[in-house]
Amino acid sequence: MKSIHSHTEFDSSFENDESVFLEVEFNKRKQYNEERRLLEIRWNHKYKIELGNGNCYHCDDVATVLDHIPALATLDKMGGQWPRELVKVPSCQRCNDTLQDFDHLTEQEKRRYLAEQYTKKRNALDKKIQGLRRLNDWFKR
Ligand SMILES: [Zn+2]
Repeated sequence: MKSIHSHTEFDSSFENDESVFLEVEFNKRKQYNEERRLLEIRWNHKYKIELGNGNCYHCDDVATVLDHIPALATLDKMGGQWPRELVKVPSCQRCNDTLQDFDHLTEQEKRRYLAEQYTKKRNALDKKIQGLRRLNDWFKR
């Protein structure tokens, strides 16, 4: 009886922690979206050129968002002044999330950064797969 009771207490405190965590994440996202909306209102009209064929400009996957080059936040830091043409490209959510708001200044810089990040992820996955294979081999012995 006692163990069931403490188990229930554990569950409800866990749920509380989780709902606090979700609320914090939700508020962070809300604030990010609001800041982004303001940046778009301020600077989006300056990005006059759209490149690409409709697929993600970076990885050729299905595009769902537009990626600003440089990032809206970068242009904002420069007070809207930029020495090159401002460009928008179609992007998949994965590439867009990976790029975040880093100060990549050109398409080439973005592609190089994405290639580095995806190579790191791939290497980490390869390592995990190797570990699982070794474990599998060990069980078969
Ligand atoms: Zn992509």
